[in-house]
Amino acid sequence: MKALVLREYRRFAIEDVPVPELQPDEVLVRVRACGICGSDVHGMDGSSGRRIPPLVMGHEAAGEIAETGRTGRGWRKGDRVTFDSTVYCGKCWHCLRGEVNLCDERRVFGVSCAEYRRDGAFAEYVAVPDRILYRLPESISFEQAAMVEAVSVAVHAVGRTPLAPGSAVAVVGAGMIGLLVIQVLRAAGCGEIIAVDLDGERLEIARRFGATSVLKGDGADPAGAIRGLGPGRGVDAAFEVVGVASTVKTAVACVRKGGSVTLVGNLERSVELPLQSVVTRQITLIGTCASAGEYPACLDLIASGKVNVTDFISATPPLEEGGQWFERLYAREKGLVKVLLRP
Ligand SMILES: [Zn+2]
Ligand SMILES: [Zn+2]
Repeated sequence: MKALVLREYRRFAIEDVPVPELQPDEVLVRVRACGICGSDVHGMDGSSGRRIPPLVMGHEAAGEIAETGRTGRGWRKGDRVTFDSTVYCGKCWHCLRGEVNLCDERRVFGVSCAEYRRDGAFAEYVAVPDRILYRLPESISFEQAAMVEAVSVAVHAVGRTPLAPGSAVAVVGAGMIGLLVIQVLRAAGCGEIIAVDLDGERLEIARRFGATSVLKGDGADPAGAIRGLGPGRGVDAAFEVVGVASTVKTAVACVRKGGSVTLVGNLERSVELPLQSVVTRQITLIGTCASAGEYPACLDLIASGKVNVTDFISATPPLEEGGQWFERLYAREKGLVKVLLRP
Protein backbone atom coordinates (compact mmCIF):
# COMPACT_ATOMS: atom_id res chain seq x y z
CA MET A 1 0.00 0.00 0.00
CA LYS A 2 0.95 3.63 -0.44
CA ALA A 3 2.12 5.56 2.61
CA LEU A 4 3.59 8.99 3.33
CA VAL A 5 6.72 8.15 5.29
CA LEU A 6 8.74 10.63 7.32
CA ARG A 7 12.15 9.36 6.20
CA GLU A 8 14.31 11.85 8.06
CA TYR A 9 13.39 14.99 9.94
CA ARG A 10 11.61 17.27 7.45
CA ARG A 11 11.95 14.81 4.59
CA PHE A 12 8.99 12.78 3.33
CA ALA A 13 8.70 10.05 0.73
CA ILE A 14 5.72 8.23 -0.76
CA GLU A 15 6.59 4.57 -0.33
CA ASP A 16 5.10 1.20 -0.95
CA VAL A 17 4.81 -0.51 2.44
CA PRO A 18 3.08 -3.72 3.58
CA VAL A 19 -0.60 -3.52 4.52
CA PRO A 20 -0.73 -3.82 8.34
CA GLU A 21 -1.47 -7.26 9.75
CA LEU A 22 -4.53 -7.40 11.97
CA GLN A 23 -4.69 -8.48 15.59
CA PRO A 24 -7.89 -10.44 16.38
CA ASP A 25 -9.57 -7.34 17.86
CA GLU A 26 -8.55 -4.98 15.06
CA VAL A 27 -10.15 -3.85 11.82
CA LEU A 28 -8.43 -2.58 8.72
CA VAL A 29 -9.60 0.92 7.82
CA ARG A 30 -9.28 2.24 4.28
CA VAL A 31 -8.33 5.85 5.07
CA ARG A 32 -10.30 8.48 3.15
CA ALA A 33 -9.19 11.66 4.95
CA CYS A 34 -6.56 12.37 7.57
CA GLY A 35 -5.76 15.76 9.07
CA ILE A 36 -2.29 17.19 9.53
CA CYS A 37 -2.12 18.09 13.22
CA GLY A 38 -0.03 20.91 14.67
CA SER A 39 1.82 18.27 16.69
CA ASP A 40 2.83 16.55 13.42
CA VAL A 41 4.06 19.83 11.94
CA HIS A 42 6.05 20.76 15.07
CA GLY A 43 7.19 17.18 15.52
CA MET A 44 8.57 16.56 12.04
CA ASP A 45 11.76 18.56 12.71
CA GLY A 46 12.62 16.47 15.76
CA SER A 47 11.92 19.22 18.27
CA SER A 48 9.25 17.30 20.20
CA GLY A 49 11.09 13.97 20.26
CA ARG A 50 7.78 12.24 19.40
CA ARG A 51 8.16 11.76 15.63
CA ILE A 52 11.35 9.72 15.37
CA PRO A 53 11.75 8.59 11.72
CA PRO A 54 11.03 6.44 9.88
CA LEU A 55 7.35 6.94 10.69
CA VAL A 56 3.92 7.16 9.10
CA MET A 57 2.24 10.02 10.97
CA GLY A 58 -1.48 10.87 11.08
CA HIS A 59 -4.00 10.48 13.91
CA GLU A 60 -7.06 12.50 12.81
CA ALA A 61 -8.67 10.18 10.33
CA ALA A 62 -11.83 8.70 8.90
CA GLY A 63 -12.50 6.01 6.33
CA GLU A 64 -14.30 2.78 5.73
CA ILE A 65 -13.71 -0.72 7.00
CA ALA A 66 -11.92 -2.90 4.46
CA GLU A 67 -11.50 -5.99 6.61
CA THR A 68 -12.38 -7.13 10.13
CA GLY A 69 -10.24 -9.16 12.50
CA ARG A 70 -11.27 -12.46 14.04
CA THR A 71 -13.51 -11.03 16.79
CA GLY A 72 -15.19 -8.49 14.52
CA ARG A 73 -17.62 -7.27 17.20
CA GLY A 74 -20.45 -6.18 14.91
CA TRP A 75 -18.36 -4.24 12.43
CA ARG A 76 -18.67 -5.00 8.75
CA LYS A 77 -16.76 -4.31 5.60
CA GLY A 78 -17.87 -0.98 4.14
CA ASP A 79 -18.88 0.60 7.47
CA ARG A 80 -17.97 4.30 7.56
CA VAL A 81 -15.98 5.05 10.68
CA THR A 82 -13.70 7.35 12.54
CA PHE A 83 -11.53 6.37 15.48
CA ASP A 84 -9.95 7.81 18.58
CA SER A 85 -6.50 9.27 17.96
CA THR A 86 -5.40 7.45 21.09
CA VAL A 87 -5.26 3.73 21.59
CA TYR A 88 -6.00 3.07 25.25
CA CYS A 89 -5.62 -0.31 26.93
CA GLY A 90 -9.11 -0.57 28.44
CA LYS A 91 -7.69 -2.39 31.49
CA CYS A 92 -5.60 -0.04 33.62
CA TRP A 93 -6.80 1.84 36.71
CA HIS A 94 -7.65 4.98 34.69
CA CYS A 95 -9.33 3.14 31.83
CA LEU A 96 -11.56 1.28 34.30
CA ARG A 97 -12.65 4.67 35.67
CA GLY A 98 -13.51 5.85 32.15
CA GLU A 99 -10.51 8.17 32.02
CA VAL A 100 -9.20 6.64 28.83
CA ASN A 101 -7.31 9.83 27.95
CA LEU A 102 -5.16 9.18 31.04
CA CYS A 103 -4.47 5.51 30.22
CA ASP A 104 -1.12 4.27 31.52
CA GLU A 105 -0.49 2.52 28.20
CA ARG A 106 -1.73 5.38 26.00
CA ARG A 107 -0.45 5.15 22.43
CA VAL A 108 -1.16 7.81 19.83
CA PHE A 109 -1.38 6.81 16.16
CA GLY A 110 1.49 8.16 14.11
CA VAL A 111 3.79 8.79 17.07
CA SER A 112 7.19 7.30 17.74
CA CYS A 113 9.07 8.26 20.86
CA ALA A 114 11.37 6.60 23.36
CA GLU A 115 8.55 4.36 24.70
CA TYR A 116 6.80 3.18 21.55
CA ARG A 117 6.17 3.49 17.83
CA ARG A 118 2.73 3.22 16.23
CA ASP A 119 2.23 3.99 12.55
CA GLY A 120 -0.63 6.33 11.70
CA ALA A 121 -3.11 7.07 8.96
CA PHE A 122 -1.17 8.94 6.27
CA ALA A 123 -1.48 5.69 4.33
CA GLU A 124 -4.06 3.77 2.35
CA TYR A 125 -4.80 1.50 5.31
CA VAL A 126 -4.43 1.56 9.06
CA ALA A 127 -5.11 -1.16 11.64
CA VAL A 128 -7.43 0.02 14.41
CA PRO A 129 -8.57 -1.80 17.59
CA ASP A 130 -12.35 -2.09 17.36
CA ARG A 131 -12.87 -0.68 20.89
CA ILE A 132 -11.91 2.80 19.63
CA LEU A 133 -14.07 2.82 16.48
CA TYR A 134 -17.09 5.08 15.99
CA ARG A 135 -19.72 4.79 13.29
CA LEU A 136 -20.30 7.90 11.17
CA PRO A 137 -23.79 9.35 10.80
CA GLU A 138 -24.76 9.25 7.12
CA SER A 139 -24.85 13.01 6.81
CA ILE A 140 -21.20 13.42 7.82
CA SER A 141 -18.47 13.39 5.20
CA PHE A 142 -15.09 11.74 5.77
CA GLU A 143 -13.54 15.22 5.76
CA GLN A 144 -15.89 16.44 8.50
CA ALA A 145 -15.27 13.25 10.46
CA ALA A 146 -11.51 13.78 10.31
CA MET A 147 -12.15 16.97 12.32
CA VAL A 148 -13.84 15.14 15.19
CA GLU A 149 -10.67 14.89 17.27
CA ALA A 150 -10.33 18.66 17.39
CA VAL A 151 -14.01 18.99 18.33
CA SER A 152 -13.54 16.40 21.07
CA VAL A 153 -10.75 18.47 22.64
CA ALA A 154 -13.18 21.41 22.87
CA VAL A 155 -16.08 19.29 24.14
CA HIS A 156 -13.90 17.67 26.81
CA ALA A 157 -12.57 21.06 27.94
CA VAL A 158 -16.10 22.50 28.22
CA GLY A 159 -17.29 19.35 30.01
CA ARG A 160 -14.54 19.72 32.63
CA THR A 161 -15.62 23.28 33.40
CA PRO A 162 -18.31 24.16 35.96
CA LEU A 163 -20.88 26.09 33.91
CA ALA A 164 -24.53 26.95 34.43
CA PRO A 165 -27.05 28.16 31.84
CA GLY A 166 -26.31 31.81 31.25
CA SER A 167 -22.73 31.70 32.57
CA ALA A 168 -20.44 34.47 31.35
CA VAL A 169 -17.29 33.03 29.80
CA ALA A 170 -14.09 34.36 28.23
CA VAL A 171 -12.16 32.40 25.62
CA VAL A 172 -8.58 33.63 25.42
CA GLY A 173 -7.19 32.59 22.04
CA ALA A 174 -9.36 32.20 18.93
CA GLY A 175 -7.35 29.68 16.93
CA MET A 176 -9.09 26.56 15.69
CA ILE A 177 -9.55 24.98 19.13
CA GLY A 178 -10.61 28.30 20.67
CA LEU A 179 -13.19 28.77 17.91
CA LEU A 180 -14.48 25.24 18.51
CA VAL A 181 -14.71 25.95 22.26
CA ILE A 182 -16.82 29.02 21.42
CA GLN A 183 -19.19 26.95 19.29
CA VAL A 184 -19.51 24.26 21.96
CA LEU A 185 -20.19 26.92 24.63
CA ARG A 186 -22.90 28.39 22.46
CA ALA A 187 -24.44 24.93 21.99
CA ALA A 188 -24.23 24.44 25.79
CA GLY A 189 -26.31 27.58 26.40
CA CYS A 190 -23.74 29.97 27.81
CA GLY A 191 -24.84 33.58 28.14
CA GLU A 192 -22.02 35.91 27.37
CA ILE A 193 -19.08 34.54 25.41
CA ILE A 194 -16.19 36.97 25.11
CA ALA A 195 -13.50 36.03 22.58
CA VAL A 196 -9.99 37.45 22.90
CA ASP A 197 -7.28 37.28 20.26
CA LEU A 198 -4.65 39.47 18.59
CA ASP A 199 -5.98 38.74 15.10
CA GLY A 200 -8.98 40.75 13.93
CA GLU A 201 -9.97 38.21 11.28
CA ARG A 202 -10.17 35.42 13.82
CA LEU A 203 -12.30 37.64 16.04
CA GLU A 204 -14.75 38.16 13.19
CA ILE A 205 -15.03 34.38 12.81
CA ALA A 206 -15.46 34.10 16.58
CA ARG A 207 -18.41 36.47 16.36
CA ARG A 208 -19.94 34.42 13.57
CA PHE A 209 -19.51 31.24 15.64
CA GLY A 210 -21.28 32.61 18.70
CA ALA A 211 -19.05 35.04 20.60
CA THR A 212 -21.30 37.79 21.96
CA SER A 213 -18.40 40.22 22.12
CA VAL A 214 -14.82 40.23 20.93
CA LEU A 215 -11.70 41.93 22.19
CA LYS A 216 -8.36 42.58 20.58
CA GLY A 217 -5.99 41.48 23.31
CA ASP A 218 -3.15 43.89 22.58
CA GLY A 219 -4.16 46.60 25.07
CA ALA A 220 -2.43 47.36 28.37
CA ASP A 221 -5.05 45.56 30.48
CA PRO A 222 -6.94 42.89 28.53
CA ALA A 223 -8.40 41.38 31.72
CA GLY A 224 -9.83 44.75 32.73
CA ALA A 225 -11.30 45.12 29.24
CA ILE A 226 -12.93 41.67 29.52
CA ARG A 227 -14.49 42.68 32.86
CA GLY A 228 -15.74 45.82 31.14
CA LEU A 229 -17.47 43.76 28.45
CA GLY A 230 -19.00 41.19 30.83
CA PRO A 231 -20.14 41.34 34.45
CA GLY A 232 -17.94 43.88 36.25
CA ARG A 233 -17.11 41.28 38.93
CA GLY A 234 -15.42 39.15 36.28
CA VAL A 235 -16.54 36.21 34.15
CA ASP A 236 -17.57 32.89 35.69
CA ALA A 237 -15.08 30.88 33.68
CA ALA A 238 -12.18 31.49 31.33
CA PHE A 239 -10.67 29.14 28.76
CA GLU A 240 -6.98 29.62 28.08
CA VAL A 241 -6.38 28.27 24.57
CA VAL A 242 -2.91 29.62 23.82
CA GLY A 243 -0.52 28.48 26.51
CA VAL A 244 1.88 31.38 27.09
CA ALA A 245 2.48 33.44 30.24
CA SER A 246 0.62 36.59 29.19
CA THR A 247 -2.58 34.79 28.20
CA VAL A 248 -2.58 32.62 31.33
CA LYS A 249 -2.28 35.81 33.35
CA THR A 250 -5.18 37.37 31.44
CA ALA A 251 -7.35 34.29 31.96
CA VAL A 252 -6.70 34.26 35.71
CA ALA A 253 -7.26 38.00 36.10
CA CYS A 254 -10.53 38.15 34.15
CA VAL A 255 -12.51 35.59 36.21
CA ARG A 256 -14.59 36.53 39.23
CA LYS A 257 -13.85 35.41 42.78
CA GLY A 258 -14.63 31.71 42.96
CA GLY A 259 -14.45 31.35 39.18
CA SER A 260 -12.52 28.81 37.15
CA VAL A 261 -9.79 28.82 34.54
CA THR A 262 -9.62 25.88 32.14
CA LEU A 263 -6.13 25.42 30.74
CA VAL A 264 -6.20 24.01 27.22
CA GLY A 265 -3.19 25.64 25.52
CA ASN A 266 0.32 24.53 26.36
CA LEU A 267 2.74 26.18 23.97
CA GLU A 268 5.11 26.87 26.85
CA ARG A 269 6.36 24.07 29.05
CA SER A 270 6.17 26.34 32.09
CA VAL A 271 4.72 29.77 32.86
CA GLU A 272 4.67 32.12 35.82
CA LEU A 273 1.46 31.84 37.82
CA PRO A 274 -0.13 34.76 39.74
CA LEU A 275 -0.27 32.55 42.83
CA GLN A 276 -1.73 34.99 45.35
CA SER A 277 -4.49 36.02 42.97
CA VAL A 278 -5.46 32.36 42.48
CA VAL A 279 -5.34 31.50 46.19
CA THR A 280 -6.94 34.58 47.72
CA ARG A 281 -9.74 34.74 45.15
CA GLN A 282 -10.27 30.96 45.36
CA ILE A 283 -9.90 30.32 41.64
CA THR A 284 -10.19 26.75 40.37
CA LEU A 285 -7.52 25.82 37.81
CA ILE A 286 -8.51 22.94 35.54
CA GLY A 287 -6.21 21.02 33.23
CA THR A 288 -7.80 19.21 30.31
CA CYS A 289 -6.25 16.71 27.95
CA ALA A 290 -7.58 15.22 24.70
CA SER A 291 -10.97 13.54 25.26
CA ALA A 292 -12.50 10.55 27.00
CA GLY A 293 -15.50 9.09 25.22
CA GLU A 294 -16.88 12.31 23.74
CA TYR A 295 -16.67 11.24 20.07
CA PRO A 296 -20.34 10.23 19.66
CA ALA A 297 -21.48 13.55 21.15
CA CYS A 298 -19.08 15.39 18.84
CA LEU A 299 -20.35 13.54 15.77
CA ASP A 300 -23.89 14.59 16.77
CA LEU A 301 -22.79 18.22 17.16
CA ILE A 302 -21.27 18.16 13.67
CA ALA A 303 -24.22 16.30 12.11
CA SER A 304 -26.76 18.69 13.62
CA GLY A 305 -24.81 21.72 12.40
CA LYS A 306 -24.32 23.06 15.94
CA VAL A 307 -20.59 22.88 15.37
CA ASN A 308 -19.22 23.96 12.02
CA VAL A 309 -15.96 22.22 11.13
CA THR A 310 -16.09 22.72 7.37
CA ASP A 311 -14.90 26.32 7.59
CA PHE A 312 -11.60 25.18 9.12
CA ILE A 313 -10.71 22.89 6.22
CA SER A 314 -8.25 24.84 4.07
CA ALA A 315 -7.35 22.14 1.54
CA THR A 316 -7.85 18.43 0.83
CA PRO A 317 -4.87 17.47 -1.36
CA PRO A 318 -3.97 13.89 -2.30
CA LEU A 319 -1.51 12.01 -0.08
CA GLU A 320 1.25 12.38 -2.69
CA GLU A 321 1.35 16.14 -2.03
CA GLY A 322 1.72 15.62 1.72
CA GLY A 323 5.37 16.66 1.93
CA GLN A 324 4.83 20.04 0.34
CA TRP A 325 1.76 20.78 2.47
CA PHE A 326 3.74 19.93 5.58
CA GLU A 327 6.36 22.50 4.50
CA ARG A 328 3.69 25.14 3.87
CA LEU A 329 2.22 24.56 7.32
CA TYR A 330 5.71 24.56 8.83
CA ALA A 331 6.32 27.96 7.22
CA ARG A 332 3.09 29.15 8.89
CA GLU A 333 1.56 30.18 5.58
CA LYS A 334 -1.18 32.66 6.33
CA GLY A 335 -4.74 31.45 5.89
CA LEU A 336 -3.93 27.75 6.29
CA VAL A 337 -5.86 26.16 9.14
CA LYS A 338 -6.51 22.46 8.66
CA VAL A 339 -5.13 20.48 5.74
CA LEU A 340 -6.61 17.00 5.19
CA LEU A 341 -4.70 14.51 3.08
CA ARG A 342 -6.64 12.03 0.96
CA PRO A 343 -4.79 8.71 0.62
ZN1 LIG B 1 -3.60 16.07 16.90
ZN1 LIG C 1 -5.50 2.01 30.14
